[in-house]
Amino acid sequence: MEHLSVATAQRVVLESVATFGAEQVKLEQSLGRVLAEEVRANRDQPPYDISAMDGYALRSADLANVPATMQIVEDIKAGDMPSRTLAAGQCARIMTGAPMPQGADAVIRVEDTEAVSAEALSPSSLPGIPSPQSSPASGRGSEREKQLLFPAGERDAASLREDLFNLVQINLSVKPGNDIRRLGENMRNGEVVLSSGTEITPGVIGVLATVKCAQVQVYRRPRVAILSTGNELEGLDEPVDPNKIPDANSYALMGQTQALGLEPVLLGIACDDPVELEQYLRRGLEYDVLLVSGGTSVGVHDYVRPTIEALGAQMLFWRVAMKPGHPLAFGKVGEKIIFGLPGNPVSSMVCFEEFVVPALRRMMGHARTYRRTIEARMTHNVKHQPGRTEFIRVLLAKEPGGYAATSTGAQGSGMLLSMAMADGLAVIPADCTGLTAGSAVTVQLLDGTVFQDDAGFRE
Ligand code: AMP
Ligand code: MG
Repeated sequence: MEHLSVATAQRVVLESVATFGAEQVKLEQSLGRVLAEEVRANRDQPPYDISAMDGYALRSADLANVPATMQIVEDIKAGDMPSRTLAAGQCARIMTGAPMPQGADAVIRVEDTEAVSAEALSPSSLPGIPSPQSSPASGRGSEREKQLLFPAGERDAASLREDLFNLVQINLSVKPGNDIRRLGENMRNGEVVLSSGTEITPGVIGVLATVKCAQVQVYRRPRVAILSTGNELEGLDEPVDPNKIPDANSYALMGQTQALGLEPVLLGIACDDPVELEQYLRRGLEYDVLLVSGGTSVGVHDYVRPTIEALGAQMLFWRVAMKPGHPLAFGKVGEKIIFGLPGNPVSSMVCFEEFVVPALRRMMGHARTYRRTIEARMTHNVKHQPGRTEFIRVLLAKEPGGYAATSTGAQGSGMLLSMAMADGLAVIPADCTGLTAGSAVTVQLLDGTVFQDDAGFRE
């Protein structure tokens, strides 16, 4: 079989996997899952016209000439229902989220008002409103009463006047509808607010709570098993042996899988022995997805591919024209899928990014399966032999107009630190004959929760 291009191999993988069925989870447990149902609004939101500001609800027609002095006839807090219809010259003190009173068509922010000054309170300035001097309760405004009601320093005289005489000066005229959130503005009863395939983010959880979805239908998650192979490997719990290689792949692949919101099972290390390998592979095939690293090459002790085939697997490919990453095997046993990843730690992680991420995300029901790509400027020359798509581990730095990408250092496929430090993978197309410093390059981001519809790079 000839080498497949990265895009062809990705297509083969995505065509071979299907999204799982649905299960129900509590809203509290739904973060990161994918909706398997359409969700509709269960009522109008907001349920009535509400104020968008702390301020005064009033009739905008009363503000033809400002400043205007208005009489406060009601205090409407969030959660209250208004009890009065506003007449000309009247307003209601209103809090954000409180329902608009009848008769009002606008809200003025508290910042655009001020307490009424003493001079404004002459009988002639307020037709129809009893002036403090002539009102029967004229004694109420006395210094003595102020002291009794409000101990010195607690309120300034202006806000005190507002309290005592229920007047406010409005300094701004506005159009009808100002600072009102309209009935049904967020959502209309019965309207589809979330579609199937939506990832449940914190904002989506908020919407689900708004429509009272305490239980959510989500796609079932694939169960993933991870197996390392190689006589030279030493487990994390084993004592350090100078002649052995610590098993990094089980844990790096575990981390990559967990980062997608899955809980993989580590099967351990299988020796390069067909009989032992077969036992491990059989256990691995109890899961939906089996990730095997090492032993997939063509060495005489690379038993993974023949053993998978002996178990009845249909091998869909085992060579991809990429660097690092080749050899990579992909097969199916019934509905179970197996990735035979390269043993070199960087290669297995890069293969995970390019093929396992889209496969797992498709199975999880995500509409977007590929990592986000951005365009960057390479800060140095890059040598490249045409033939394979190359993925270079890079650091990204923000610069005017975009990002600068710089290699994390030596790029050997066993140099896991180069991967550990990287922000992304710069993709060098297969036909490229090398890049000079300053060239544009596509970088696939390695972390983050935002994904995209297609691979986003030219290979
Ligand atoms: P292989 O694909 O089995 O030929 O392995 C290629 C290289 O990757 C060898 O140097 C192995 O020692 C190394 N390797 C294989 N598996 C692992 C692993 N789980 N952790 C770290 N290195 C590994
Ligand atoms: Mg090996």
